[in-house]
Amino acid sequence: ILIPLLGLVLAFYFYSAPENFSEEMLRGKRVIVTGASSGIGEQMAYHLARMEAHILLTARTEAKLQKVVERCLELGAASARYVSGSMEDTTFPEVVVKEAENTWGGLDMLILNHIGYSYFNYFNGDVGHVRKLLEINFLSYVAMTVHALPMLKESEGSIVVVSSLAGKTGNPFVAPYSATKFALDGFFSSLRHEFIIEKVNVSITLCILGYINTESAVRAVSHAIRGTPAPKEECALEIIKSGALRQRELHYPPGMMGSLLLLQAIAPEFFDSLIRSSYKVENVRRP
Ligand code: NDP
Repeated sequence: ILIPLLGLVLAFYFYSAPENFSEEMLRGKRVIVTGASSGIGEQMAYHLARMEAHILLTARTEAKLQKVVERCLELGAASARYVSGSMEDTTFPEVVVKEAENTWGGLDMLILNHIGYSYFNYFNGDVGHVRKLLEINFLSYVAMTVHALPMLKESEGSIVVVSSLAGKTGNPFVAPYSATKFALDGFFSSLRHEFIIEKVNVSITLCILGYINTESAVRAVSHAIRGTPAPKEECALEIIKSGALRQRELHYPPGMMGSLLLLQAIAPEFFDSLIRSSYKVENVRRP
């Protein structure tokens, strides 16, 4: 029994062993990054600039985007520009993609990363907030994909979707956010199957992130989470690598995330209690 099993494991390993990443993979590539005015998106813009990619950035705050674009040009971006606007506006995804089409005439990588603000607390019953968050965190991702797909098919490009551990497992105090991230997994995992069935050579990478040290995340949850956040610079680089290597999923920080998901599959109740124990629930008070 052991020998065929070992053979199977080795065959799986060699079949799935990733090609090595090199920065040249991004040189001259045309990349859209959403949510690029701060946090992980901003760091992805800087990495892509150093790799000499063409970059189109988007978020709401024009002043911040201007500064990020300036820095990208200093770092060596082949070109860098931005479009500002809100993903709550259902016409905005098309505006962003049109900007890429008009400027470059094509697109190689679409990195969907933005999120709207949500509270970190017990679910407050506000259905309107859940609806709005679905628009920003989920439906705009779908709309961006729909508009970008003809160009991505042409270039045999990549879609990178930034999600969270809260999009794979239930976590307390983030019910609306978690719902939008689970929706991304359902939609894009289904789409990936269809691409394979129809031989559409566009890769879809789902990024499952743990706690990262961005200003907004630390501000929202540091009082209630045990453990140290991982660095946003490294996280941003790993996201770009996983997209360039056309990986199915990225789990970051490495090691911990894979073991957690395995534990969830084997012992879900125990896993849930472990999740609850990672929060300082006494520090979360209903408003
Ligand atoms: P930030 O809050 O730092 O950045 C969010 C970005 O989205 C900003 O550029 C913001 O810019 C933009 N944004 C906010 N509202 C809108 C809107 N209505 N329309 C368009 N853009 C908007 O987030 P992080 O960098 O921490 O997170 C990035 C990604 O990583 C997210 O998908 C998040 O879910 C995921 N993640 C992060 C974790 C963490 O611990 N940091 C953990 C797990 C996943 P502006 O305000 O100018 O619009």
